[in-house]
Amino acid sequence: RERLAGQNNLLARGLLNLLSGGTVTEETWDAFEETLITSDLGVAPTMELTEKLRTRFKVEGVNQPEDARRILREELVALVDPTMDRSLNTARQGENPAVVMVVGVNGAGKTTTVGKLARVLVAEDRDVLLGAADTFRAAAADQLETWGSRVGVATVRGAEGADPASVAFEAVRAGVEQEVDCVIVDTAGRLHTKTGLMDELGKVKRVIEKKAPVTEVLLVIDATTGQNGLTQARIFREVVDVTGIVLTKLDGSAKGGIIVQVQRELGVPVKLVGLGEGADDLAPFEAEGFVDALLG
Ligand code: GDP
Repeated sequence: RERLAGQNNLLARGLLNLLSGGTVTEETWDAFEETLITSDLGVAPTMELTEKLRTRFKVEGVNQPEDARRILREELVALVDPTMDRSLNTARQGENPAVVMVVGVNGAGKTTTVGKLARVLVAEDRDVLLGAADTFRAAAADQLETWGSRVGVATVRGAEGADPASVAFEAVRAGVEQEVDCVIVDTAGRLHTKTGLMDELGKVKRVIEKKAPVTEVLLVIDATTGQNGLTQARIFREVVDVTGIVLTKLDGSAKGGIIVQVQRELGVPVKLVGLGEGADDLAPFEAEGFVDALLG
């Protein structure tokens, strides 16, 4: 939480300045909107939030920074939506392991997220197996295997150019056989054609499900890519049933507002956030903690 606060300090600073300024003028509201839009909250959510705050400030006769802060906190939490179910389905399902598919465009942080998530599960004493279904680049499987050895879990991989679905199937088959708790499958993220991707990810999922149900499909989005990230997210949402979003690279970025946009656009909760390149830089996402971090 502290890390998030420090790293989102553009947003934090903007909001805190507003709160400590005493009287709230038209200029304050303008600056406020600008800060929110800069944070990638999006124009519509920004306008909505500002309207709500203006009304409440007036109706409730706010003239103390503590009251302004309390109302701002309430409205930000509501915007992030504390009612969404952000739990991760990674526990064994009866006879079967949980199966987590990790999808997203190249460079978003999929492989890194798989490694970090494996680390979290291993720390909870769970048996994890990784599947390297990005078979287009040998380097991708190598990178995943490196993460695996780093966090102490095995990786199932195929030859370069092997059918991604068959590697995913092998990984889940091995997971069932070895009675692991969770198989995490890293997938390819080439977005050159939508049909190509649709065919491939759909196929990977269908083939996996011949062995065991997929319990989570996590869409990894780079928080720093703004509108582009949103467009990609929409395409993935159409091709697979995304159950949760992982927003990476929130460290060093004041673009935390993207969380709200992504959730609204996709109707899917942000479940995890990436806060760095290290093995421990993955955190569960939680509306109130996030807002508190923003407000310092
Ligand atoms: P993939 O192509 O989607 O599998 O992406 P990678 O996992 O290879 O990550 C791409 C780059 O982003 C790598 O250099 C990662 O170290 C970096 N990365 C991933 N997640 C984060 C994060 O949360 N914060 C930062 N700063 N870098 C990250």
